[in-house]
Amino acid sequence: MPGGVSSPVRAFKSVGGQPIVFDRVKGSYAWDVDGNRFIDYVGSWGPAICGHSHPEVIAALQETLEKGTSFGAPCELENKLAEMVIEAVPSVEMVRFVNSGTEACMAVLRLMRAFTGRDKVIKFEGCYHGHADMFLVKAGSGVATLGLPDSPGVPRSTTANTLTAPYNDLEAVKELFAENPDAISGVILEPVVGNAGFITPEPGFLEGLRELTKENGALLVFDEVMTGFRISYGGAQSRFGVTPDLTTMGKVIGGGLPVGAYGGKAEIMSMVAPAGPMYQAGTLSGNPLAMTAGIKTLELLKQEGTYEKLEITTQKLINGIIQSAKEAGLQITGSSISAMFGFYLCEGPVRNFEEAKATDTERFGRLHREMLKRGVYLAPSAFEAGFTSLAHSEGDIDATLKAFQESFSAIK
Ligand SMILES: *Cc1c(COP(=O)(O)O)cnc(C)c1O
Repeated sequence: MPGGVSSPVRAFKSVGGQPIVFDRVKGSYAWDVDGNRFIDYVGSWGPAICGHSHPEVIAALQETLEKGTSFGAPCELENKLAEMVIEAVPSVEMVRFVNSGTEACMAVLRLMRAFTGRDKVIKFEGCYHGHADMFLVKAGSGVATLGLPDSPGVPRSTTANTLTAPYNDLEAVKELFAENPDAISGVILEPVVGNAGFITPEPGFLEGLRELTKENGALLVFDEVMTGFRISYGGAQSRFGVTPDLTTMGKVIGGGLPVGAYGGKAEIMSMVAPAGPMYQAGTLSGNPLAMTAGIKTLELLKQEGTYEKLEITTQKLINGIIQSAKEAGLQITGSSISAMFGFYLCEGPVRNFEEAKATDTERFGRLHREMLKRGVYLAPSAFEAGFTSLAHSEGDIDATLKAFQESFSAIK
């Protein structure tokens, strides 16, 4: 396997050492094949928001498994999950299930172009929208971590239609619209960036994009593959009160199984085959197992007090991290929203990818190794957000903060 991994972000190239091979996961913990236990802040890169292998999710999966793994025909479960997504996410009136976030973003891009009859798209530096050709321009963590330029194999003719702007920079977007009249299909972004570390939208940024796209006859697309059902039950759009035209989802809605989805206004989604002419398909899409894990996960998240608990846990964690770094005399800036957090080893503020690059990656590598020694598994990159879950107990957070305190001292 290239690099020994099935996805580049799992490698330890940027922090030093070899990737750890996991044997099993449960709650807030992961065990490697040597039997070492880690408190896990990667959470399978987002899906494990209820904790790994939640007993109710496992039980529901076992029951569904008895009925078969794939029908290749409509199933009741996909209708149920569709209803839940439509009810939860303000922009979604109609939804199509796919098998990954990448697939969702590829499809939404085609839909943006199909609906507007325009070929260009605006994305932001440091935002990741899966590995489709047109999005592999300034695409954040996975690419940035390895120091790769825009990937070879991506035709220049394809990325010529991809325009980029710095995150949180409305003026830059305004200029792109002015320079490309009637040519831009829309703007796609992570409403909270998790693929360049953790960057939050400045007040007015999302609202400004909503206005600019409307004025220019373009679509606004929130890539909520990471933030959907994590920043709040209705995603970042619900938390910030800005409704895009289209939304992509993944990670949490699959509850640990491969699921992606894209949805939005019925008028736009009706373009998708077989309701309309825009082709997009999938042999295993909407399969009963994946739908079951998604449904059960959303049911758990919908319970009273869930997001309040996630917010408190995560705030305690990030505040403790910042405090112990400062006590060790290190520069740090960091924040959290709901069950997502991040920090940079630099003075800050960090409002875009350029500013994120000021983080001390060499020192982060040492921090990562020190934390591993103390049984805490952080994403192996200075440019990834961290994820907490309902399974992270106060004891876990206390143990993690003790490990941070010792590790910051060790690397100062
Ligand atoms: C993870 C991610 C993707 C890609 O999803 P995959 O399931 O890995 O293909 C797309 N967009 C964002 C914002 C993501 O975080």
